[in-house]
Amino acid sequence: MSKVHFGPAGIPISAEKRDTISGMKKVKELELDAMEIEFVRNIYLNEQSAKEVKKANEELNLKLSIHAPYFINLLSEKESVVEKSKKLILQSLKIAEIINAKFVVVHAAYYGKLSKEDAFEKMVKITKEILKKANLKNSVLAYETMAKQSQFADFETLVEFYKEINHPNFSICVDFAHIFVFNDGKIDYKKIFDTLEKLGIKEVHSHFSNVKFNLKTKKFQDVHVPINSHPSFYELAKELKKREFEITIISESPILEKDAIKMKNIFISI
Ligand SMILES: [Zn+2]
Repeated sequence: MSKVHFGPAGIPISAEKRDTISGMKKVKELELDAMEIEFVRNIYLNEQSAKEVKKANEELNLKLSIHAPYFINLLSEKESVVEKSKKLILQSLKIAEIINAKFVVVHAAYYGKLSKEDAFEKMVKITKEILKKANLKNSVLAYETMAKQSQFADFETLVEFYKEINHPNFSICVDFAHIFVFNDGKIDYKKIFDTLEKLGIKEVHSHFSNVKFNLKTKKFQDVHVPINSHPSFYELAKELKKREFEITIISESPILEKDAIKMKNIFISI
C-alpha cells in the first residue's frame, strides 16, 4: 500500500492567523500532514523567516512543498522574462532547501510560437542550467503537468523530458485534474502509475481537485471545484492502495483543507 500525505495548497481557510507557521499548526491540528507554501503571487519568505518555518516544522513534521510564482515563463520571447523566471525559480529553490521542502512546483512555460520540438530542446538546456546553478542538496525542481495545449507541458511530454534531464533533483508534479482536462475528461490512473514506476520514481508529489464541465462548450475546464464529481478521487485512492509509492496529494479544491480531509477519509475507508 502507498504511503499518502494529504494537505492543502496554502494556509488552511480555517486558520485564524494568516501566516505560514499558524497555517502549519492548523494543518497538524486537523490531522493532516502536508502543506504547500504558495509563492504564486510573490516569494513572501526571506531566509530569516524561512529558518523560523524550518524550526517550527521540527515539531510539526509536515511534508512541506513550495509552489513557485505564476509569473514564470522560461520560453518567453522577452529575454527579461526568461531571466526573471530563472531568478524566481532559483529563489524558490533556495527557500525550499532552508525549510526542508522537498518539492518546488513550477508552471514552467508557454510554447508561444515555438514548435514542440524546439521548445523541448530549449527547456532541456535552460533546466539543466538552473539545476547546475541551484546546486541542490535535498530539494527537487518539479515541473507540473499542465491542462492546456499552449502550456509546457502535458504528462506524456514531461515523462520524456524527465528521461532527458535525468537528474536526482528534477521531477514531475502530477496534477491529476490537469491531466483529466488535457485528455478531454479521461484519466487512466493505472497507466500513470505504471509510467512513474517505470521511470523509477518512488516519491511522488501531486495536486488534486475536481474540475468544471462547461455546458456551453461541452468541455472540461481547468476551473477547480470541490471534490464530489470528476476526476474520481475514489479510483485514484483504489489504485494507490495497490501500489507502493510515497505520495503527497495537495488539495487544490476551493475548500482546501476540507477536501484534503475528505480525500484522506476516502483513502482510509477503502
Ligand atoms: Zn500549479
